[in-house]
Amino acid sequence: MGRPVTDAPTSERVQGYTVLARKYRPKRLSDLIGQPHVVQALSNALSSGRVAQAFLLTGSRGTGKTSTARILASALNCLGASRQGMEPCGECASCRDVARGEDLDVIEMDAASNSRVDDIRQRLESIDTRPARGRYRVYIIDEVHMLSASAFNALLKTVEEPPAHVKFILATTNPEKIPETILSRCQRYDFRRVTLGDITQRLAEICAAEKLDPQEGVLRMVAEMAEGGMRDALSRLDQLVAFAGARPSCDDAERVFGLIGRKRLMELLEQLAAGDARAGILFAEAVFDSGKDVAEVLAALVGLTRQLMLVLAAGEAAGPGLDVTAEEVPALRRVAQRYGLEGLVYLAELLTECRQRVRRAAFPRVVVETTFVKLSMIGNLESLEKLAARMDEAADAPVAPARAQVQQAPWTGEEAPTPWTEPGGAARAQTHEAGVAEGPAKAKAVVTPPTHATAQNPPAAEIPSARRSPTEAEQKAVSQLKKTFRAK
Ligand SMILES: [Zn+2]
Repeated sequence: MGRPVTDAPTSERVQGYTVLARKYRPKRLSDLIGQPHVVQALSNALSSGRVAQAFLLTGSRGTGKTSTARILASALNCLGASRQGMEPCGECASCRDVARGEDLDVIEMDAASNSRVDDIRQRLESIDTRPARGRYRVYIIDEVHMLSASAFNALLKTVEEPPAHVKFILATTNPEKIPETILSRCQRYDFRRVTLGDITQRLAEICAAEKLDPQEGVLRMVAEMAEGGMRDALSRLDQLVAFAGARPSCDDAERVFGLIGRKRLMELLEQLAAGDARAGILFAEAVFDSGKDVAEVLAALVGLTRQLMLVLAAGEAAGPGLDVTAEEVPALRRVAQRYGLEGLVYLAELLTECRQRVRRAAFPRVVVETTFVKLSMIGNLESLEKLAARMDEAADAPVAPARAQVQQAPWTGEEAPTPWTEPGGAARAQTHEAGVAEGPAKAKAVVTPPTHATAQNPPAAEIPSARRSPTEAEQKAVSQLKKTFRAK
């Protein structure tokens, strides 16, 4: 495992340096990270001799599909006397040529850049030719979903009745774009995203082999950014080492990738849970001033919120999808309990919405600040529940004189009296009532400093309970609140 390769193309070698993703590319099935089901199924197929004529390897990028296609091609044609079981030996002429992409019997084609029917016809011309050296002619078609409809038809004719000496290995990130006629003739293997734990562990092994000594937490940051792709993780590690040398710190990783450390994100969520709106605004300021990608930071917060929800909802049962280490669980649970499940659902919704809005907002900073201020008010959710209960009572009460209705109505307009009403929300309602065009008022509302939000919207607890018949707008608000708090 992990033997250095000396046959990398010049473009991937800089003064004798081979990029990690290539150097540590899996050479055998047992090298594959995080795909035990694929490894076992393929090993069984190879050792039992029941090898399909066409394979389909599916999964997101960087999960090992193309490597597996080459390993499979090597295994089918390996000449090695020293091979262990059905794994390719990696040393015979056939294995070495396949690894270099120079084997006459293994025809590789990238459908992304060769999608036309003529491209596929040209490759398949030699299909009846006997293999030059090995047992099979193996056709590897990467990103096969990119083929045109007529190219798929040409391929189908061959896949339907291939000569006995031909094997097809198709790989794709989008299996749903492949015609059923092709799918039904393939043995399919689905590659999973590699878990955070598996990526982190593999990175640690490679760092040890490469004499790299990253600070604690760095590999985890790299692994998180790779989103389940081992190849991406290695490319990022390369990038980090190129910037920071053999002992990269968390600060280095934050700088290179424009990240904010998990510890800082947890701290922010704790501050917001404690109602600290100022901390939220200062955090937004730091993010904008540092030039980091705000959408990425928000995405990281959404990811963290998801973990908080899973820890609280499922606990230990959350399983590998949780992607946290055992040491992280107590801290996650502590923060999660401060929000409660409803609070976390709201947190996730607001952050997701904020991330969607921030890219096209005229004033992205205000969008982010407003969101953080709203989040710092999550503690008021409980009083909202009480408000809903009181409005229920009001709905059941006898009709009061019309005058009282005017005097006691705590708010007008169509918006529910939520304590996190957006700054300018009240202004908008007034404008609406006065029949003034909404355009300028809205624009003005956007630049209203978000810190005024609390002043404009009295805490829910202060709104007087109204012993009168509710207006239509109030009834609507009550039913919305009920939906929020009871339907769960
Ligand atoms: Zn071999």
